Amino acid sequence: MQQFTSVRTIPMLRITTEKKRGKTVMSVEGRLAGAWVGTLEQCWRERVQGEKFSVDLCGVSFIDAAGKRYLDFSAQLMCVTLGHKNKAVIQAIQDQARDLPYVGPAWATTIRAELTKRLVEVLPRGLDKFFFTTSGTDANEAAFKIARMVTGKTKIISRYRSYHGSTMGSIAATGDPRRWAMEPAGKIPGVIFAPEVNCYKCPLLHEYPGCGIACVEYLEHMIANESDVAAVIVEPVVGTNGVLIPPKEYLPRLREICNRHEVLLIADEVMTGWCRTGKWFAVDHWNVVPDILTTAKGITNAAMPLGLCATTEKIASYFDDHFFSHGHTYEAHPMTLAPAVAAIAEMKRLNLAARAVELGAYIGPKLNELKQRHPSIGEVRGIGMFWGVELVRNRKTKAPFNTMKDKVAGTPMLVDKVAARMMSNGVYLQAWMSHFVIAPPLIVTQSEIDQGVAAFDEALSIADQEVDA
Ligand code: PLP
Repeated sequence: MQQFTSVRTIPMLRITTEKKRGKTVMSVEGRLAGAWVGTLEQCWRERVQGEKFSVDLCGVSFIDAAGKRYLDFSAQLMCVTLGHKNKAVIQAIQDQARDLPYVGPAWATTIRAELTKRLVEVLPRGLDKFFFTTSGTDANEAAFKIARMVTGKTKIISRYRSYHGSTMGSIAATGDPRRWAMEPAGKIPGVIFAPEVNCYKCPLLHEYPGCGIACVEYLEHMIANESDVAAVIVEPVVGTNGVLIPPKEYLPRLREICNRHEVLLIADEVMTGWCRTGKWFAVDHWNVVPDILTTAKGITNAAMPLGLCATTEKIASYFDDHFFSHGHTYEAHPMTLAPAVAAIAEMKRLNLAARAVELGAYIGPKLNELKQRHPSIGEVRGIGMFWGVELVRNRKTKAPFNTMKDKVAGTPMLVDKVAARMMSNGVYLQAWMSHFVIAPPLIVTQSEIDQGVAAFDEALSIADQEVDA
């Protein structure tokens, strides 16, 4: 007989842990990534046992083992921008595997030169020195090290509504509750948090535009009072934490503040890069060039794990005669660079940034129309094809259905119930805390958008029933 020591439910997964011969064994049953998962033993998510698991993907859809097709309304983790199984990207991986599957990072390679050329063409002007990593997380780790070494200062300012990765530095800079489990010892010291920019629920209780963008002015107050600030890190448009779009004054003003105090500005474009917001990079909307830009996800259409830490010639030149205490076996791994070259070419061929604008103009009114009919929707916001829909139990007070503490405690979240209903209706949508992130592959058609919005419309009735009377 199995003795369950804990049972936790996350959307569509039943996770149980039990003691077997003195070891903790975790089993997962349910639908994972759209496929029926058998049992995962002594593992987290990666090692799958049994032949029940299979999944296929194509274009904007993925298919479970029973053959059921799901519209991917969030491009998995907001990363498969070109759609699943993009042929050119896959071909590039195959070709690279044949030509040069691996060589250490100290060697120059044709593919590295090729990618460098492509990156210079699309990144904000002036960012033309690149450090290649294997994820967004370690791109941010590199950024922090660069900032600290180049400025000779220590502190990093981040903001509460943010996610910057999962390792000790990047989790320290993460404002959302994924950081809590690491408090206080499991993270780098010297990270402090500024109020986020959130015009729907301003943490300073102001209203735009009368506020004078107090949230960014307060950041200058922090820099002046803290001293020793090496860098400020922001997601130009906050991603997982709610698709929060700053007012037009915010980033240009932040650029000025950083310049004045000789603090580096790091733009984390892991999620917002690669045409998602209607420009190659979100900072392009405000013509702001950060000192360091980090990105990952869509850079390879998520088909290979590549991250990028881009900076200026001036900053990089510091390392001409200083040792850069970073680097790893898979840095500039040829297999990760090749799909990036192909992905950039595909984004150009498909004119993807312009397409994101067109798609955004199509979906925006539809989501706003849902807001008219569903009392549980507090706000709809978006830029390009990157949309957030925030649920509230009370429109006047803007009170959410669940709290951050609920999330950490594993309490079933209302947004997950809505997402689960959509899943049963064949649409996959990312839910986080009190909102949804709508970011399908940018090859989605208008009729597929209609299908996704219709499933959302239907599932929102679950939330409507829970609003305060
Ligand atoms: N930064 C942002 C804004 C992200 O959204 C993410 C991941 O979702 C990361 C950093 C971490 O990137 P990765 O998951 O590739 O380590």
